[in-house]
Amino acid sequence: MTVSHNGGTPRYNPLESMRKRLDKAVEILGLDDQFANVLRVPDKVVMANIPVTMDDGTIQVFEAYRVVHSVHSGPSKGGIRYSMDVNLDEVKALAAWMTWKCAVVNVPYGGAKGGIKCNPRAMSKGELERLTRAYTLSMRNVFGPDKDIPAPDMGTSSQEMAWIVDEFSKIQGHNSYAVVTGKPLVLGGSLGRVEATGRGVMVSTRSALAKMGINPTQATCVVQGFGNVGSISAKLIAQLGVKIIAISDISGGYHNPDGIDIPKAIEYVANSESRSLEGFSGCQRISNEELLELECDVLVPAAMEDQITPENAARIKAKLIVEGANGPTTAGADDILNEKGILVVPDILANAGGVTVSYFEWVQNRLGYYWTEERVNRRADRAMKMAFDNLYQRADKEGISMRMAAYVVAVEKVSRTLKLRGSF
Ligand code: GLU
Repeated sequence: MTVSHNGGTPRYNPLESMRKRLDKAVEILGLDDQFANVLRVPDKVVMANIPVTMDDGTIQVFEAYRVVHSVHSGPSKGGIRYSMDVNLDEVKALAAWMTWKCAVVNVPYGGAKGGIKCNPRAMSKGELERLTRAYTLSMRNVFGPDKDIPAPDMGTSSQEMAWIVDEFSKIQGHNSYAVVTGKPLVLGGSLGRVEATGRGVMVSTRSALAKMGINPTQATCVVQGFGNVGSISAKLIAQLGVKIIAISDISGGYHNPDGIDIPKAIEYVANSESRSLEGFSGCQRISNEELLELECDVLVPAAMEDQITPENAARIKAKLIVEGANGPTTAGADDILNEKGILVVPDILANAGGVTVSYFEWVQNRLGYYWTEERVNRRADRAMKMAFDNLYQRADKEGISMRMAAYVVAVEKVSRTLKLRGSF
């Protein structure tokens, strides 16, 4: 694993982590290299430099990407990330993970991801709107309801999706709801979409605890990250009877061995000036490192990539890790966690509830017929449970980790579509 040093902090490359696992799956499957080579690289990489007029009248140029990893199983699908950490390798890894994720939950899409290097917290609503519209215009030949369908990711929400629908519809000259998912309800969004990723994390946690013979009401859980995925995962896991003993966000970690009132924490963040947990009372402040290494049954890393690494993996005390984020564990940490007997529900399964309900949203848009929340949740829960059971069984049968089972199942499926379709 290449570790480059940025200001003293080791940085891992998520693309290398993705490739290492892909290579291992290729080896397990005995897949011919000519097919594997197609899956090792993205189908298409689009990079744009986008000038935007800021509120003070100056023009700032933003680095923007859309990477389409695969289109063998359907139009490509994946979120758009606004973050200062965005870089091409990261977007390539995230795009490939979307391919594997869709295959794991049987959603008929390929994988893609977009990213803009920016700090959305430091930008006004007007600046974000102009940037999002300019990005949509720049990617107008990439996006499309049958081509490539974006969604929210870190730093973006239903508001950005509304701007994309509006801008894309203007370019097309007709309304095009199905070009993007994760939209506001009144603009063709789906009930249950906001909660979908966290809900899938909860279903994964519930399924894994059942396999491990742990009663949720006797279990403790630590959640890293308190954005859409972390906060909703925490809320729904708490509803299973699990005690959430620590949470964290950009302001740091918050620990209370007696349990944290998650709805109260969510309300606190929603009403706080800083939109963070800063100042949330009743907890002991801890660092991010301490949080990950707390004694607990379940650890849900739901913040970002490269949190569990060869440096700290040996000190992780959780019995179960359910990956809410994409790529929170580096490939170098996989063996350490396996040797410790920790069950890891991998990202490409654990957080696939989001794209599953994105698919339902797209289906509803195309039908012009909208489902009840109960129907959305029931179908999403069923898809997640089936995928979990499938991977658990496969892992058991082949004597591999659930992560490797996920890669094996995904690569097997995508390579089959690739072979059937053929190439030039
Ligand atoms: N950004 C989310 C993910 O990483 C959702 C993608 C989607 O719904 O297309 O899975």
